[in-house]
Amino acid sequence: MAKPQPNIIAIDGPAASGKSTLGRRLADSLGYLFFDTGVMYRAVTLLALQRGIDIRDEAAVTALAEVTTIDVLPASKFDGRAYDVIVEGKDVTWEIRSHEVDANVSIVSAYRNVRRAMSEQQRRIGQRGRVVMVGRDIGTVVLPEADLKIYLDASAEERAHRRHDEIEARGEAANYDDVLTKVIERDRIDSTRDVAPLKVAPDAVIIDSDRMDADEVFERARKLCE
Ligand code: C5P
Repeated sequence: MAKPQPNIIAIDGPAASGKSTLGRRLADSLGYLFFDTGVMYRAVTLLALQRGIDIRDEAAVTALAEVTTIDVLPASKFDGRAYDVIVEGKDVTWEIRSHEVDANVSIVSAYRNVRRAMSEQQRRIGQRGRVVMVGRDIGTVVLPEADLKIYLDASAEERAHRRHDEIEARGEAANYDDVLTKVIERDRIDSTRDVAPLKVAPDAVIIDSDRMDADEVFERARKLCE
């Protein structure tokens, strides 16, 4: 008898490695929920910035994270979004992708109790199954029982190129060197933090996408599901 498809799929990896593109396609092809956990850390970061909270003030940011309601709902607009991100009733789907959030999110996500609040919610959703969950610590901490774990990697230069092109495609100005510096800095913070750092789970399949396009990465992942 054929092996059943994996019920819980975890995709981890560094910034801009193509996790969301892969996760979204994989989830669509399997009829699963796609859950991009980075949006939760981004939402808390955005709200803290908007409220004028000092990002370095761990207690204040944590207090905010513990009372903030973050919802991820089916896309309500055809503007390229995969879902709506609603924070305190407001649609912040695009705002959470701003440069300012990019520059501050790794500081917020390193706070122990911010992570605890976010991970609990992620775990609850993931355990329902039929889910593709994307992040940094899904296979290692949030859902170590995941049936398939993929670690999607690529060189910092390749990732910066992709991010740079993405920003320009949105009609915004971008400087490649600047993007590269930021990508490297975010990876440094994400992989050296004390709590749930970015690392490869021992049972993860590593896909290095440097010389692969999005279709090839998808085909490779699809095969892993069979
Ligand atoms: O994946 P994305 O780039 O949107 O994630 C934004 C940030 O959120 C990451 O740089 C990381 O600091 C944090 N994050 C995390 N754990 C996750 C997902 C994201 O720490 N599971």
